[in-house]
Amino acid sequence: LFVTLEGGDGVGKTTQARLLEEWLAGQGRTVVRTREPGGTEVGVLIRDIVLHHRGDVAPRAEALLYAADRAHHIETVVRPAIARGEVVIQDRYLDSSVAYQGAGRVLDADEVRDLSLWAADGLLPQVTVLLDLDPTAARARLDADDKPFDRLEAEKHDFHARVRSAFLALAASEPERFLVLDASRPVDEIAAAIRERVSSVL
Ligand code: C5P
Ligand code: MG
Repeated sequence: LFVTLEGGDGVGKTTQARLLEEWLAGQGRTVVRTREPGGTEVGVLIRDIVLHHRGDVAPRAEALLYAADRAHHIETVVRPAIARGEVVIQDRYLDSSVAYQGAGRVLDADEVRDLSLWAADGLLPQVTVLLDLDPTAARARLDADDKPFDRLEAEKHDFHARVRSAFLALAASEPERFLVLDASRPVDEIAAAIRERVSSVL
């Protein structure tokens, strides 16, 4: 089973990935919790480039860097885990590229999606949880969290507003794959909704 969590910065993806992992592990399942960018050793190097040179990497180069991270990660971590019958819970996947590199950097959404699917050799998750939150509220959460470096600071509000709309449009276009949840709800309610959906496909 392959489950991805998507949404803007500061919506609670990592928290929910951790809670879902704990619940599945408690049921005796073997879980691989991973992320993009940076789910492999090579990916950590790519993550370093894209995050520390945000805004000064040419948009097409940025899309290719995310695609390279994805190609390596899917082939060396995700597919082997799925083949072993494990559950993969992944923080961000190709929908993030369509939203950030597509809508955010204003590349063609279909081209970015095709590039991502080529990189991943066509692998799509069974379930994608979209945690939806207004970027202003997300900003406030990240500030309160006192993160080591400022994630939203590099981009303007309208960038994040475009990213949010793109995620919602993706979810509307693939309603069977997506579960859209209001990320302003309490953490345990969101976790319960995710568990319900995951249970239904296990
Ligand atoms: O979710 P995480 O904190 O790992 O994301 C790292 C950063 O990379 C985020 O600020 C996100 O906006 C950015 N990102 C991106 N394009 C992607 C994936 C992540 O710009 N495809
Ligand atoms: Mg996170």
